Amino acid sequence: MSDKKCKYIFVTGGVLSGVGKGITAASIGAILKAKGYKVTMQKCDPYLNVDAGLLNPVEHGECFVTHDGVETDLDLGHYERFLDFETSKYSITLSGSIYKELIERERAGGFHGKTVQLVPHFTGLVCEKIEKASVDSDIHIVEIGGTVGDYEGLPFVEAIRLFANKVGRKNCLYVSVVYVPFIHTSNELKTKPAQNALKDLRGFGIIPDVVCVRTEKPCGREICEKIAAFSGISSDAVVNLPDIQSVYDVPFNVLKSGVLAILNDFVGDDRGPDMSRWKEFSRRRALKYKKTVRIGLVAKYVGNDDTYMCVTEALKAAAAWDKVNLDLVWVNAEEVEKNIDLLRGLDGIVVPGGFGARGVEGKTKAAEYALKNNIPYLGLCLGLQVACIAAARRGGVKDANSEEFGASEKDGNNVIYIMEEQKGKESTGGTMRLGDYRAVLKSGSKVAEIYKKAMKSGEYIYGTKVLGDGDVEVVERHRHRYEVNQKFLPAISAGGVLVSGLSPDGKLVEFVEAPEYKFFVATQAHPEFKSRPLHPHPLFREFVKMAEA
Ligand code: GLN
Repeated sequence: MSDKKCKYIFVTGGVLSGVGKGITAASIGAILKAKGYKVTMQKCDPYLNVDAGLLNPVEHGECFVTHDGVETDLDLGHYERFLDFETSKYSITLSGSIYKELIERERAGGFHGKTVQLVPHFTGLVCEKIEKASVDSDIHIVEIGGTVGDYEGLPFVEAIRLFANKVGRKNCLYVSVVYVPFIHTSNELKTKPAQNALKDLRGFGIIPDVVCVRTEKPCGREICEKIAAFSGISSDAVVNLPDIQSVYDVPFNVLKSGVLAILNDFVGDDRGPDMSRWKEFSRRRALKYKKTVRIGLVAKYVGNDDTYMCVTEALKAAAAWDKVNLDLVWVNAEEVEKNIDLLRGLDGIVVPGGFGARGVEGKTKAAEYALKNNIPYLGLCLGLQVACIAAARRGGVKDANSEEFGASEKDGNNVIYIMEEQKGKESTGGTMRLGDYRAVLKSGSKVAEIYKKAMKSGEYIYGTKVLGDGDVEVVERHRHRYEVNQKFLPAISAGGVLVSGLSPDGKLVEFVEAPEYKFFVATQAHPEFKSRPLHPHPLFREFVKMAEA
């Protein structure tokens, strides 16, 4: 199929943002993938930020990292979960990065004295980015952030209109997701804002091929027909997508809506998508099981799924495939500092990634508690660092700490420290170890066995290889600045925790585990970024299984 020219789907939103445009786009992608196409996705966002690395996770949700080390927002995580592919630096296009590139080019004399303008320069560069992101794909889906009509988003709308001139209108499908509110006082659905949104889109030269009407409850056909009539769109092309409990059921909603016929027409085949694994996942998620696992997420920002999206999604998927109910308990790390009893009754503890000193003592206490009581523990990035601090304290280094949390190097007990080449750059963006790095897991370690088993069954591969000597090489994404100081390994192991994976050059600690325990595993990486609902990450699967045991 890849010798065919790529086709493009552009998804825009009208009326208001946050009504599931990204999930709709990803669901369309999942369906096309299930039809056998190679599908990729890209987000164009009109922020002036250059990347998402410095955005506040409370406001903006989790910072997602691509395999090639770009810090993006959580939408790309949805894309990866729905399409089971790896996004890249080309999958995110922010206004800030486009302006930055244009200005740098201008300063370097790259425009030979010409006036640099939104059209054609900004729009042209956006088109270039879309082409780059779609190399090797059969179908490339581009989501435009915000709503059509926002000042800042206009150059992107113009770019996707122009794009059809480049590749041919028949190779482009425009999808508009609009919201139709229900007004309780008059007991009716109001289509006017949607009509206006479509009028705006028409005004920018785009007549959509599909309009997805988002409503709280399923609406009658007459609503879609009314929108079609007022917007000059065929009524078959206007479909209803009511709210649904789980985002993973949206692909089924899309299939029910009649969009498949339009997609088939667009790609030129009427093969049905193979949704069997999706169906199985959806069935397992919806069932109530006899067993429940209580997993405590010891975190700084509690109760905010968005902030730890990949972690919570990985846990949910692992529980669904393991056929147990997940009781996710948010534990405020700062409160654990004062009251360790908050951890009582948990079947498993996760310490996710994090930055800064707030709540870190609580996270370290949580790791100590897991070690003391043999409670399954999964440490992710900072979760490995606090596990090593906890183990070193048990192993006799009473004031073990991390250089990140204020302890100065002269204290001599920085089990976690900043390496020479990172010194002085601590407060700036873009100086971290980001993206994919290889690690070599020691033959016979618990983690080596977990990855090996998952690789052999085909559940999880992503670069996993068994090496000649039985060690296992794995590739995981990273986002951190600090490292384990190997000088403290004797104390850490005296505390019960051993190194089970190092960087290939042996310089960096990548994985640790407590072999005598039910499950005490931590990694400097973020395996959650590669966990998929249809193929949860093996570390999460094993952790949930052990928490349940
Ligand atoms: N703050 C730690 C570091 O920079 C951990 C980062 C993380 O958990 N992502 O090394």
